[in-house]
Amino acid sequence: MLDKAPNGKVSNLLNTLGKALAAGEVENAVDLFQTDCYWRDLVTFTWNIKTMEGKEQVRDMLKARLADTKPTNWKIADGEDASEADGITESWIQFETGVARGFGHMRLKDGRIWTLLTTMSELKGHEEPVGFDRPMGAKHGSERNRKTWKEEREAEVAELGYSRQPYCVIIGGGQGGIALGARLRQLNVPTIIIEKNERPGDSWRKRYKSLCLHDPVWYDHLPYLPFPRNWPVFSPKDKIGDWLEMYTKVMELNYWGSTECKKASYDEKSHEWTVVVQRDGREVVLKPKQLVLATGMSAKANMPKFEGMEIFKGDQHHSSQHPGPDKYKNKKAVVIGSNNSAHDICAALWEAGVDVTMVQRSTTHIVKSDSLMELGLASLYSEQAVQSGMTTAKADLIFASLPYKILHEFQIPVYNAIRERDAEFYKRLEKAGFLLDYGDDDSGLFMKYLRRGSGYYIDVGASELVANGSIKLKSGVDVKRLTEHSVILSDGTELPADLVVYATGYGSMNGWAADMISREVADKVGKVWGLGSATTKDPGPWEGEQRNMWKPTQQDALWFHGGNLHQSRHYSQFLSLQLKARMEGIPTPVYGLQKVNHLG
Ligand SMILES: Cc1cc2nc3c(=O)[nH]c(=O)nc-3n(C[C@H](O)[C@H](O)[C@H](O)COP(=O)(O)OP(=O)(O)OC[C@H]3O[C@@H](n4cnc5c(N)ncnc54)[C@H](O)[C@@H]3O)c2cc1C
Repeated sequence: MLDKAPNGKVSNLLNTLGKALAAGEVENAVDLFQTDCYWRDLVTFTWNIKTMEGKEQVRDMLKARLADTKPTNWKIADGEDASEADGITESWIQFETGVARGFGHMRLKDGRIWTLLTTMSELKGHEEPVGFDRPMGAKHGSERNRKTWKEEREAEVAELGYSRQPYCVIIGGGQGGIALGARLRQLNVPTIIIEKNERPGDSWRKRYKSLCLHDPVWYDHLPYLPFPRNWPVFSPKDKIGDWLEMYTKVMELNYWGSTECKKASYDEKSHEWTVVVQRDGREVVLKPKQLVLATGMSAKANMPKFEGMEIFKGDQHHSSQHPGPDKYKNKKAVVIGSNNSAHDICAALWEAGVDVTMVQRSTTHIVKSDSLMELGLASLYSEQAVQSGMTTAKADLIFASLPYKILHEFQIPVYNAIRERDAEFYKRLEKAGFLLDYGDDDSGLFMKYLRRGSGYYIDVGASELVANGSIKLKSGVDVKRLTEHSVILSDGTELPADLVVYATGYGSMNGWAADMISREVADKVGKVWGLGSATTKDPGPWEGEQRNMWKPTQQDALWFHGGNLHQSRHYSQFLSLQLKARMEGIPTPVYGLQKVNHLG
């Protein structure tokens, strides 16, 4: 029989919390939290994405925001039961604020709140038209000159951006811009997505030809329209491109392909952007109230500068420009870098009969895909998880409920187990000279991703080629210079080369703001991504959340969106609600707007 005791504990606590909050008794509410507590709020109390760490920060936030927020109706979420294990009681919860409905998650330790997640599900009076409220589609009855769905859609496409201005412009129509566009469409926020490539999905199609998603299908669903049950575990890049193209069409997004944003500027007086775009060779000026840069966190290429690049006679390009191996058969290639792209490209070159050398300057974290799937992701994102009733929405929220400050503590045991399981594999790689790491604090891949967005390879086969010498390796060295036909390394080695690929990663997304808006605005918003963990490439101070992503920035009406498919799906919900609230004139006082500690 189901043990209902945890339900009693959670309900009692929620009742007490609800009463204290309703009465404005901040101290009584704070008393319900553990000393080492974390309250992560996605937009409900703070109109921000923010984690309050410890009682003092909870107290400060409540003092500033409680009166405005007016939270009520705290209870265990409908249809859910609390559970208890290892001294922790946890539960899905629901609540309301003055303007929104919220859903969340709570963990209790010794009868007090240890972690609390509060997220905005919908704005009251502005709910998405679903279920009983879905559109009729057909218009029954008779009417002269009535318009069909197709005619209405064509009229919208013809008007928007010309005779009628969009409320929001999203620059970048990769999966990030598309997912956000879909959410805004459902919320009836007039939006145009600007994309310089011709077709939705091209940003994947144009990547090197061997690329398949590194994350499994359960992690990759888009909002509203999950992949079918026969979709491959690791989607090939052109297949995901086709899915995005189909999705853009059926979700009725206003997607301007073959359109490049040339310039954008904000008028602080009229609170309006002027966005100059080149559409099919013609200039169009858009005047949205909100501007979202969804231009890709893995898109602003870091191209190194080495002496002699200008005299090198072979082909040389950044990994993002690499066309694939076909024309390099029987030639010699040098790939600079040792992370995901470098490995994928080296393996594809080797398969095509190219003599390839990888140049590794510093350590890389490697994790075998199978191990990552089984030990890292399976409990939330896997077929087993689906079979045991886990939904994508719940998996995303459980993940979101783990505060960043202590997330590494949950990750370290996972990567220790992976190290043990794959000890032989790691030994062979080291024997081949490969320089390994497991993250500065051994917390592995996901923390590296959140902190610096780089520094790892999810092994789908290339590591074996490195270990057995098929892919040649020069490690612990840097490039000194290029000659007409070779790469000279810092240890004096000369590597003859017909092709040099710079798999040297990507820069901060505020670089896009510098290109399209101004250096001043780029510096005003500062670095995008990272947590301030004071680990390699993620300088402190601690910021508690990812810098500038999906939340207000220091530049009014400028937003950054993106990340992997999981983040893009999950956080597009909260970004779309922030935009919708602004469009509807709902007050959105931002609590704890981040300070800028780094420029880029
Ligand atoms: C090799 C590689 C493998 C990856 N594997 C995975 C994976 O397995 N799973 C995963 O989730 N993520 C993966 N990623 C991360 C991946 O970049 C993102 O998931 C995804 O592409 C991000 O989508 P996005 O829409 O944010 O950016 P992008 O897909 O980069 O899209 C940005 C778009 O902005 C457009 N743009 C830029 N400037 C302008 C302008 N001025 N005007 C108009 N348009 C403009 C670009 O043309 C581009 O289409 C991988 C990345 C790389 C490089």
